[in-house]
Amino acid sequence: MRLDAIAYRVHESPRTEPFVIASGSSTSTTNVIVRIESGGLVGTGSACPNSVTKETRDSIVRALAFLARDLRGRSFGKSLELADAMDKALAGNPAAKAGVDIAFHDLRAQEAGVPLYRLLGGGSRDRMPTDMTIGIMSLESAVTKARYWTGRGFRALKVKVGLDAVGDVRRLRAVREAVGPALELRVDGNQGYSLNAALAVAKELPAIGAAVFEQPLPAEDLNGMKVLTEASGVPVIADEMVLTPQDAMRVRWGSCARAVNLKLMKHGGLQRASEVNTVCESAALPAMVGCMGESVVSVAAGLHFALASGNVRWADLDSFFMLERDVAPPLRFEGGDLFAPTAPGLGVRVDESLFG
Ligand SMILES: [Mg+2]
Repeated sequence: MRLDAIAYRVHESPRTEPFVIASGSSTSTTNVIVRIESGGLVGTGSACPNSVTKETRDSIVRALAFLARDLRGRSFGKSLELADAMDKALAGNPAAKAGVDIAFHDLRAQEAGVPLYRLLGGGSRDRMPTDMTIGIMSLESAVTKARYWTGRGFRALKVKVGLDAVGDVRRLRAVREAVGPALELRVDGNQGYSLNAALAVAKELPAIGAAVFEQPLPAEDLNGMKVLTEASGVPVIADEMVLTPQDAMRVRWGSCARAVNLKLMKHGGLQRASEVNTVCESAALPAMVGCMGESVVSVAAGLHFALASGNVRWADLDSFFMLERDVAPPLRFEGGDLFAPTAPGLGVRVDESLFG
């Protein structure tokens, strides 16, 4: 496919409410929407600034300006060729590259006339349950939120913890009591705990009926994660410590987790995410597919990716529910399941006026 024109636009949206996790808080989101023309087709991608890859709105705009100049007029057959070309032209900047990679995948699936998950090798699975995330807040607010979201159909919740082990356990117990035993409860520490605090919380999680315990310790604390993984009664998931296939290998050889949370923004798009997932799958580490404060554009890409891989067991693709205004209509959500669009490509129709 020849990349005839590459454009991008910054889109900001307030969050429906402030979002607090152990590593920071935010009241708004920024996404840089990418548009690539090829022949008569238009592909759309999106890049989301985030603290994990240390990319900002400005660094993403600079990277996209550079990549647009470098890639314009060039042809790529497979997404691997494009990913390699981007890495050769520019080091790092995985979220910016994800924006281009997603738009390219959109183009390729449109050209093939199939929804993206089909192009990626997916079969009959066209929907997946996603969790809804509950940030760090008072116990009473968390219970209210948990009731609200389960009332809207969610069958899984991800509760953020990591600032206060004792209070966190109390809050998790209260949420469990409020939603009943059937709901899948995921716990994410976002690197906030010390090893001792994480071990104390891990001890309580089986009785609370938590399904997983995600990245409770700092990304660089491989030994702590190993100790915790051995001691924890619920599977420990690595998130912020896995950006590259090499990171996934370190987790595997160091026994630092039992599963990995994949995010298109961390790895550099679908192509690189699939390379990380290949390491995970070969090491018997099942994957979650998660997101940053992303628009529905890249969340849809994450869903297509998740549907196409048998190794992906969990989806945490909820960010677009929390945006005051998005660049495209939301994905279909019913009975706790997120549905892949049926149109060829990504299946997300971005507001025309954005690039008008
Ligand atoms: Mg996480």
